[in-house]
Amino acid sequence: MPESVANQIAAGEVIQRPASVVKELVENALDAGATHVDVILKDAGRTLIQVSDNGSGMGKEDALRCFERHATSKISSADDLFQLHTKGFRGEALASIAAIAHVDLKTRMEGEEVGVHVCMEGTRCTEQSECACAKGTTFMVKNLFFNVPARRNFLKSDNVEFNNVLDEFLRIVLAAPQVSFSLYHNDKQIYDLPKTVLKQRLVSVFGNSCKGKLLPVHQDSQVVRIDGFVGTPASAKKTKGEQYLFVNQRYFRHPYFHHAIQSAMADLLPSDHYISYFLYFEVDPSKIDVNIHPTKIEVKFQEEKIIYSILHAAIRHAVGMYNISSNIDFDNVSPIDFSMVSGKREIVEPQISYNPTYNPFHAENGKKSSTSKEYPAFNAPKAANDSWRQIYETLKENTPSAADLSVTEKQLEMDGMEPQGKQEQKLSLFQLDKSYIVAGFSSVLFLIQQDAASERILYERFMQQMERKEAAAVQKLLFPESVTFSPQDAETVRGLLPDFKFLGFDMEPFGRNVMIVHGVPADFQEQEVQKTLEQLLETYKGNLMSLKSSRKANLARSMAATYGLKKGKILQRAEMESLVRQLFQCESSLYAPSGKKVYVRYDEGDLSKLFKSPH
Ligand code: ADP
Ligand code: MG
Repeated sequence: MPESVANQIAAGEVIQRPASVVKELVENALDAGATHVDVILKDAGRTLIQVSDNGSGMGKEDALRCFERHATSKISSADDLFQLHTKGFRGEALASIAAIAHVDLKTRMEGEEVGVHVCMEGTRCTEQSECACAKGTTFMVKNLFFNVPARRNFLKSDNVEFNNVLDEFLRIVLAAPQVSFSLYHNDKQIYDLPKTVLKQRLVSVFGNSCKGKLLPVHQDSQVVRIDGFVGTPASAKKTKGEQYLFVNQRYFRHPYFHHAIQSAMADLLPSDHYISYFLYFEVDPSKIDVNIHPTKIEVKFQEEKIIYSILHAAIRHAVGMYNISSNIDFDNVSPIDFSMVSGKREIVEPQISYNPTYNPFHAENGKKSSTSKEYPAFNAPKAANDSWRQIYETLKENTPSAADLSVTEKQLEMDGMEPQGKQEQKLSLFQLDKSYIVAGFSSVLFLIQQDAASERILYERFMQQMERKEAAAVQKLLFPESVTFSPQDAETVRGLLPDFKFLGFDMEPFGRNVMIVHGVPADFQEQEVQKTLEQLLETYKGNLMSLKSSRKANLARSMAATYGLKKGKILQRAEMESLVRQLFQCESSLYAPSGKKVYVRYDEGDLSKLFKSPH
């Protein structure tokens, strides 16, 4: 097999998209001791990814050799493998990038008069010369996947790809506040992050609004040192996305540790809310294995169970402290010291002092009584399910009176509900368990799930609005609201703005992460704008992962899920009637876009079958 093909195959593992290139190049810059890194992208990195650093630079030989596979300068003996402090060590990244793109390298070491210029095209060196350049290294990666059309076609829209780049970029800049970074996309500056300490880096990235919402976490022990911040319970959101774990300044994912954090907060959070966290672990590098995943996002810890309980305790402690002091002085939090854990330290039992009964959602707590409005589901007592008494009460409340029963002919032009002759027909309607509508007409019985029905109706309505570009009814807000998003979400929202207009959102970008909302879709019960948009985005992003549907269809589905009627809502007769009517006017009514079944139908035959005796 020719070397170039082998490299292309290996590249597939390491370089999947522009974001992977950015990650590898920026990590190399940090490994080279850079204190400033500039990243420049064109077309989400498809056309150009340029990373410049002021690090050590490379000499002439290294500048050529670095593109060879296993060219790493970071390992010279097997022992080194267990004491790694650098991010890269496999020596695969540059070889992989050179195999699938045009790479242009300029680099100069301190003390050298001139620098080196090397050009690579699909593993072939096409230029090698001296050049004038600043101390440090600049990699330009052009025409990504020029020779691998399958990979190129596999790339998503610029919007999605740029979001992936942002994900990687943030994982790196949040791990290295002591380094300054800038990021440009299509000549627009996206970030300019000065060198600072962690808390200030968080503010530079996520905006001032995060200041009062973070609780400091410190926990030291022999096996691990944990520092960082966790969001206050009250700042928990319906969107995931700001959950960051780092070990020895490297981002990693760890569902087990995530569970430790989430479960430490469990009694303080509504179930569908996520807490943000930025937690930095320091462990002896010989006690972790970062080698188990080609892109090194998963890390295996030798002392996982112990770390789980230390982490759990650290989070409880942070929240308990918050409860005691209640107002946190964010600016007095001491900066994180990244010094390594020494193996000789004595075992320090994690000290926990927290109030186990503390619950910020509890009205008596005084501080947060307004949250009962925000999270009604959380405070609602659990219904004693299917007690007959309750069903009876529901029926009594909702059974229509005889006067309500006549319906117009138009309403009867529904599936299975054609008017029979001219004789007056009755539609019997009632709600069961605040969740189902029982509709009887003539000899046909429909059992309708109200949430699924509403989702189907709204989905078709929102699709229509977007496709026909109809002006949607907008409910103007008395006071425009500013809504802050994470950088990735803000990017997504910007991409969706034209569609949002046809859905009834009147909003405009304001700065990098903020949208000013002037109006929201009319006809819906007033909701909190921020929460609604968050939930909407969360559903949208979830669908992106799991579905192949178009952007519009995804948005319509997310809107329908967000604004749809939920189970547990008591419906008046008029509301049920209107729901049933609209449902059967839908193009397709049996399933909700999320796949939930909308109704079951029994006609005379089905009913008599149900009662047939076995003999
Ligand atoms: P790894 O990082 O796993 O060692 P890479 O393929 O990413 O492998 O890089 C290969 C080698 O090129 C590195 O070990 C390093 O010696 C050199 N190198 C790469 N980028 C830089 C840079 N920005 N500054 C200095 N040296 C670099
Ligand atoms: Mg590397």
